[in-house]
Amino acid sequence: MALRVEHDIFVVRQRGREVAAAVGLEHQDQIRLATALSEVARDLLRAVGGADVTFAVDLDEQGRPQVRVDLAPVRPLPDGRYEPHSGAVARLVDMLGVVDREGDTVVRMSRRVPVSSQALTPERLAELRTELGSSAPGSALDELASQNEQLIAALDEVRSQRDELAVLNEELQETNQGVMALYNQLTEELEATNQGVVALYAELDEKSAQLRSASESKSRFLANVSHELRAPVTAVIGLSRLLADSASDPLTEEQAQQVGLIRSSATDLLSLVNELLDLAKAESGRLEPNWAEVDLRAVFGQLRGTLRALSTRTDVELVVEDPPPPGTVRSDEVLLAQVLRNLLHNGLKFTERGEVRLRAEVRDERWWLSVADTGAGIAPELHERIFEEFYQVPGSPRIGGTGLGLPYARRVVRLLGGTLELTSEPGRGSTFTVTLPIGGA
Ligand code: ADP
Repeated sequence: MALRVEHDIFVVRQRGREVAAAVGLEHQDQIRLATALSEVARDLLRAVGGADVTFAVDLDEQGRPQVRVDLAPVRPLPDGRYEPHSGAVARLVDMLGVVDREGDTVVRMSRRVPVSSQALTPERLAELRTELGSSAPGSALDELASQNEQLIAALDEVRSQRDELAVLNEELQETNQGVMALYNQLTEELEATNQGVVALYAELDEKSAQLRSASESKSRFLANVSHELRAPVTAVIGLSRLLADSASDPLTEEQAQQVGLIRSSATDLLSLVNELLDLAKAESGRLEPNWAEVDLRAVFGQLRGTLRALSTRTDVELVVEDPPPPGTVRSDEVLLAQVLRNLLHNGLKFTERGEVRLRAEVRDERWWLSVADTGAGIAPELHERIFEEFYQVPGSPRIGGTGLGLPYARRVVRLLGGTLELTSEPGRGSTFTVTLPIGGA
């Protein structure tokens, strides 16, 4: 197409739009290309008196189809350069600039064709070419009318977009305020929670300090009282023994009986005092094990001897099995014997018929020493309570005892690096198991 007079601008514009529509550009893109074309055409007409306009469809650098318009100016461009009078024009197309076409300088613009549009085969292009060739260009007035229509449509679109933008902006602002409010609320809540936690921790620290000091006072009290009681109680026992001695003045039968009661009560009291003292010592951490390689066979042998004498019931058999190899444990012999004696003693006390059995096993680098009896057993809910100080199972036979043996035994076993646990079912007897690391704590 030749662009020589003002009127040609309209024709070029119209053709541009037709070509853009024919290759499948969207409506908006058709108008963009046509508008850019008419602007550039106007510039060239003014600057160099016109151009020869060529429409083409080809591939861009990335091999994608594009529609291309070359405007070859009729006179050389000043300095061989071209700048559209408005920067916005260049944004209407994908590319707008001066290129060298076989030695001639031409102004070129191009716009990519969407892939979704129908395949632009050579046949299809030939068809388009004939179609466009046969249609006569409309008059300037026609083009002006259509341009007006397009302008109104574009204005409408801009307005509706602006309204939409305003609504969006408003929504965004509201959302922002909501988020800020939520954030503030969360911050406040977090702060309040933090303060609560800090206060709670302070209280907890205070409480545990109180607890510690209460427990220390208790141990100190027990130790002091027991210690102070021991001397007079021992004196009472000695004096009552002296009174009953045949070398002293003879007592009446009744007096002898009363002195006997004093003595046995004092003896009970002394054993309670001694146990309290032991427990206080273990609790205050002043009990230091005397670590040595302990021969379990020897300990078991001794227990067998001393406790046989204790088991007065003929219906109960005391069985002490021989420990398997290695037969030794790193521990405190006196404390360990004390614990086992205590457990065996309990077994004998609370078993009416059957047996009380001490046996040793090695499993997982530990000794498992168990004292099993065939006595009445202990209800599951009391399995932990009997390890509390002074607790005695209600209804169990009152055969001496203070309720201090098991709590003391458990403390000592822990000191030796082990555990003391009970398994028992009422009616089926009880088994107390001491585990100890073979190599010591
Ligand atoms: P004590 O034997 O001096 O009463 P312990 O602390 O040794 O105190 O035991 C606490 C209580 O646990 C006992 O009074 C008894 O009720 C119960 N008990 C302990 N060993 C056995 C056992 N082998 N069978 C049944 N009950 C037991």
